[in-house]
Amino acid sequence: MSKTFAFYNRFVRSLPGDPLKTNVRRQVERASYSKVMPTPVATPKLVAYAQEVAELLGMTPEFVSSQEFASVFGGNQVMKGMDPYAMNYAGHQFGQWAGQLGDGRAINLGEMVGTDGQNWTLQLKGAGPTPYSRTADGRAVLRSSIREFLCSEAMVHLGVPTTRALSLVVTGESVVRDMFYDGRAKEEPGAIVCRVAPSFLRFGNFQIHAAREEHDILKRLMDFSITNDFPGLVSAEEALSRSHYLTWFQEICDRTSDLMVHWMRVGFVHGVMNTDNMSILGLTIDYGPYGWIDHYDHDWTPNTTDAQSRRYIFGNQGAIAHWNLAQLARAILPVVEDAESLQSILNGFPKRYQTSYNAMMAAKLGLTGADSVEVVKVTTGVEALLLSAETDMTMFFRLLADLDPSSTIDVWLRTLEPAYYGPETPDRAKNLTEWLLGWQAVVTRSGVSWSERRAGMNAVNPKYVLRNYLAQEAIDRAHSGDYSGISELLEVMRRPYDEQPSFERYFAKRPDWARQKAGCSMLSCSS
Ligand code: AMP
Ligand code: MG
Repeated sequence: MSKTFAFYNRFVRSLPGDPLKTNVRRQVERASYSKVMPTPVATPKLVAYAQEVAELLGMTPEFVSSQEFASVFGGNQVMKGMDPYAMNYAGHQFGQWAGQLGDGRAINLGEMVGTDGQNWTLQLKGAGPTPYSRTADGRAVLRSSIREFLCSEAMVHLGVPTTRALSLVVTGESVVRDMFYDGRAKEEPGAIVCRVAPSFLRFGNFQIHAAREEHDILKRLMDFSITNDFPGLVSAEEALSRSHYLTWFQEICDRTSDLMVHWMRVGFVHGVMNTDNMSILGLTIDYGPYGWIDHYDHDWTPNTTDAQSRRYIFGNQGAIAHWNLAQLARAILPVVEDAESLQSILNGFPKRYQTSYNAMMAAKLGLTGADSVEVVKVTTGVEALLLSAETDMTMFFRLLADLDPSSTIDVWLRTLEPAYYGPETPDRAKNLTEWLLGWQAVVTRSGVSWSERRAGMNAVNPKYVLRNYLAQEAIDRAHSGDYSGISELLEVMRRPYDEQPSFERYFAKRPDWARQKAGCSMLSCSS
């Protein structure tokens, strides 16, 4: 007997849909979505899944391993109650207005209440063309699907807000991609990830209605977002007023700021912070050419498409989030009708970001409770130190917690040695010694015991992150038919802050072979 779940579809029920039902690419006006079915694939096969997400959705291991599961999450079958649709959205891409974009290869299946009592929408990525596919095929390749599947779940376990991933299904069909944009397109295996989130609304969903001056729909969408996804902001039956919209915008700004600080804490570079890739809920969304910082570098981006303008480099993410929020403010202005208040909320962003960033760095350095002027000095100092010699970000902060106050400075230098990419030089030892002595003085004055400080630092400095080369190793194995590397990596990333002696090999710098390898240090948007 076929499995049943109570799916409901608030988005479809509450908002205007595309009256045209044919699945042809077009400009879709006066509609927030288009109903569209996934396109069936040859032989859907489940190759990885996240048990935690399955449990959250009330799916048993038996159901997950059934043919029905592979069929539904490969797009060959729709379950009772699902009402699939693609969302309409626009966006600024790399700072330029790009007009209508929309879910070109994502199809929302339905919404359900999880075992946690929260609403969760299930969405397939790579399930075939939609009215928003423009010139592309609606599909996704295995390499980028593995990256999205693993990183979504790695982020959750790191405590970073994100969309989640239920499953990774290979389609048995190939997809043609020109990975390096050099005219050498080739066939790659296709795959579909089922993403799961309370909402997939992006800044761009509001921008599309604003750009078309569909202010009535814009208001309906804002009201929908507030009442469904921000229930704390409004009491039942209350009519929405300007102050609700302003509180909502403030909340989006705060969540976005917090998300950026998380990314900076764990060394994550999104790579494509276009406004269509910014979640209204402050979640990390759309894992494309993202990357993890190996050696600390503010100027690094993994995205080859952005290699020239370097808009989305690691150190710019806070400022770009602010710019994106300004675009959202412009979009919602016709409904809010209070430019001054929106501007004043926007103006508060840099200060909030900087204050949270400083607090985050203080926690990474074990300086919680220390004098704030001293913290800023030590933080600025550590950034300069990390930039002065190639230093692995994850290893440096993790090893720093191990420095025992009763040891000599020589022991400290040896403890930190594995975090460096190059050999020790007299200059490096001198800079490090100076910084360490300054740091130790502040630590001592803060009065926190060594063991307490160490535990606090280890709770915010992960030992294991999804380094680019690790994901690439799992991809290479999958391309040769061995999918076990995906689940192995997920297993390590489940407990990123714990010592996991059997996985010690994952606590290592990027190997030399990965420095300039495609997929490891450079990624294109081709996915
Ligand atoms: P992204 O850069 O992945 O955030 O995508 C930007 C826009 O291009 C979104 O509207 C996507 O839905 C669309 N898109 C990306 N890849 C494809 C594809 N293979 N087929 C159809 N649309 C796509
Ligand atoms: Mg996108």
